[in-house]
Amino acid sequence: MGATKGAAARMRNTGRGATQQSSAPYNRRVVLDFIRQQGAASRKDIADMVSLSPQTVANITNDLEAIGLIVSRRQKVDKSRGQPPIAFELNPQAGNAIGISLEPGRASAALVNLVGEIRSRCEVEMDTSDRQQMLAAMLQLVARLRRESTERLWGIGVALPGPLGHTDLSFVGPTALEGWSDLSVLDELRETTGLPLFYRVDSVAGALGETLFGVARHLDDFFYLHLGLGLGGALVIGRSAYPGADGNATEIGHVPVVPGGTPCYCGNRGCLERYVSMHSLAEALGVTDHDVWTVELAQRLRNPADEALHAWCRQAADRLRDAVCIIENMLDPRSIVIGGSAPKVLVEHLVALAQPWHKSVRGGMAEPGTRLVLSDRQDDSSILGAAVLPIYEMLSPRLEVLQQERRPDVDVAELLGHRATGKRGP
Ligand SMILES: [Zn+2]
Repeated sequence: MGATKGAAARMRNTGRGATQQSSAPYNRRVVLDFIRQQGAASRKDIADMVSLSPQTVANITNDLEAIGLIVSRRQKVDKSRGQPPIAFELNPQAGNAIGISLEPGRASAALVNLVGEIRSRCEVEMDTSDRQQMLAAMLQLVARLRRESTERLWGIGVALPGPLGHTDLSFVGPTALEGWSDLSVLDELRETTGLPLFYRVDSVAGALGETLFGVARHLDDFFYLHLGLGLGGALVIGRSAYPGADGNATEIGHVPVVPGGTPCYCGNRGCLERYVSMHSLAEALGVTDHDVWTVELAQRLRNPADEALHAWCRQAADRLRDAVCIIENMLDPRSIVIGGSAPKVLVEHLVALAQPWHKSVRGGMAEPGTRLVLSDRQDDSSILGAAVLPIYEMLSPRLEVLQQERRPDVDVAELLGHRATGKRGP
């Protein structure tokens, strides 16, 4: 019967538990994950769907209830059929995580509970290239949200524009955190707050947020386009982001799509991000990156005489159509999910303009409505993605550690009996 770790990992894709003693933490995650996906599930539902024995399911649900991660309530059914079964749900009071989304010039933060509800949010503008100002601002945001959290805090998640590490493209240009040379400011944030801290590139965080609480909750595999001040991407396979050799895979914003096109800050020309990003919109409208967020887009899009905006939209839609074709032909993803901090009204407009899509391997194959899916948390997508980082490991039954941690001892791991062995980030 003994399942190897690899076999257990494969089983997860069919929603099945593993039977080996050492797989107990994994089985807890499988059960927790099933309850999260279903919203509410009885012991019988769980046992039927995850192929664990009723006794094992009973033990696991007892444990999860005892540590406060799930709550039970009696389901309402026809009284003539006897005692209604107990259903388990994730406990919204089981604690919160703080998500911080860093973009050039601003940091937004939110307190998010275990079911993905934003309990509180705040934002601060600052010079993100000034290390001390940056740290002070993040500490201020954390302190404020911490005061508002009466339950336990799972930790801090930080989403920031990539790529990270010492690549040719890191920390250059107005869509990256210019002036940074490493992530040591995050170490200071962790040490000063005493909270576990996780970070990921914003596109990866956004994709994981959609996986746990968004439109990708029923998708194991998809491609995620993160449209914010810049443009990023993430390839999610088996509900974890494909990292590449050094954690910077799918940096789609710097794929050249126009030969001899607009110079990019990375040193190349014609990069996708130079056409499809809030930064490129700011340039076209003659406003600063700071002011582009306050442009009345809905109103201006309705005005056909607003040539600056419509000309930008047309060329952005052309490049978006190319990007979708490249992604589909390269990866054949079931869906491309678009999220990020860009206003939803703008994303919807671009997607409408970009159609019909180029011919691709998804054309004719994708089920209606699945080829391109827009985040329903668009404006909150980044912040939610950041906040899921401290809880993703707990709620997702993967055997490898997903997050790039800034601290090795994780509360989540202690609670579920599985010590994290993940690598530090690049
Ligand atoms: Zn570039």
